[in-house]
Amino acid sequence: MKFAMIGAGAMGLRYGILLQEAGNDVTFIDTWQPHIDKIREQGGVYQMRDHQDRHLVKIKLETPESYNGDPDMLIFFTKQMQLNEYLRRCAHFFNDRQYAFTCMNGMGHIEKLQKYFADDKIIGGTALIATVLPGPGEVDFMGKRGAGKLNMCPLTENPDEMTHRLFDELQKAKMNPTLTDDFTGTLMTKVIFNSVINTICTMFEIPMGEFGNFPGANDMARQLIDEAYDICARADIHLVSSRQEEIHAIDINTRIDMPLHYPSMYQDMTKDRPTEVDYINGYIAALGRKYHYEAKTHLFVTQAVHLAEFHRQNL
Ligand code: NAD
Repeated sequence: MKFAMIGAGAMGLRYGILLQEAGNDVTFIDTWQPHIDKIREQGGVYQMRDHQDRHLVKIKLETPESYNGDPDMLIFFTKQMQLNEYLRRCAHFFNDRQYAFTCMNGMGHIEKLQKYFADDKIIGGTALIATVLPGPGEVDFMGKRGAGKLNMCPLTENPDEMTHRLFDELQKAKMNPTLTDDFTGTLMTKVIFNSVINTICTMFEIPMGEFGNFPGANDMARQLIDEAYDICARADIHLVSSRQEEIHAIDINTRIDMPLHYPSMYQDMTKDRPTEVDYINGYIAALGRKYHYEAKTHLFVTQAVHLAEFHRQNL
């Protein structure tokens, strides 16, 4: 299949390189000039796995303006606040035959994609995998080959032939896809998961295991999860895990699967980039207001992360 990765950051590179290794035609599209310059100078991207085995991977890299190909599938991996600008700059090569797939964190991106793609061409998902961009031209895949998994669901909730072809290519690329049947429920379950781990680890600048091993971790998680699940019940969103399953997943992910990992929100903050908190806890709180529910804890932690960003800007 012919893919265009829109955003060649940590996740765009991970998905794109694995799809390329599985035999697909992949072009990476990016706008961050130091990254573009470094990749061109090196003749590719230096890829590591868990900080080891640093080696050069050749990739095809374009900017939105220089690309004029016609991919079957566009995979969007930008940060939430970058997406509108990417869509505007890439729109000249979009057509109504192409599909848009994304496993970005947070919420708000689907409405933006809908301005450019028909509903039956949008496939959403969630990625349970950790990847780091240590600097321009370098990417570090965390976890062993075949680690991590993803959920995917077409916006129509009716998988067509292209959804199945994408699923097959992701499976060949060892990305462990699962096809789910509830679009919003799938995405919101991950938003709630991130609303606990990403946010708390970012506020306190700690790796995930330090949160997971804290004796009060379950109580903190329970407070955020209860508010979010109450709101989703009011909004008639059917989450794919129960409250207890979500707490259990957070416990395993932080203590056992990735204790040394710092979530991407933390990585953004420490690189003086804005975080996605408004699209995660902020989104949950805004959804609550729509249904006359004041998500006090989500509102508080959203501002706490902004305070941490503000503090860093003033260092
Ligand atoms: P990223 O920040 O690595 O890359 C996104 C874009 O930002 C790319 O265009 C990249 O070139 C650019 N960029 C990277 N560093 C920059 C800098 N210092 N200054 C300016 N531009 C820079 O983002 P990502 O980690 O690939 O995340 C994409 C989406 O996937 C987000 O919604 C994220 O929450 C989600 N996600 C990430 C992970 C992860 O482990 N990284 C896991 C699951 C989901």
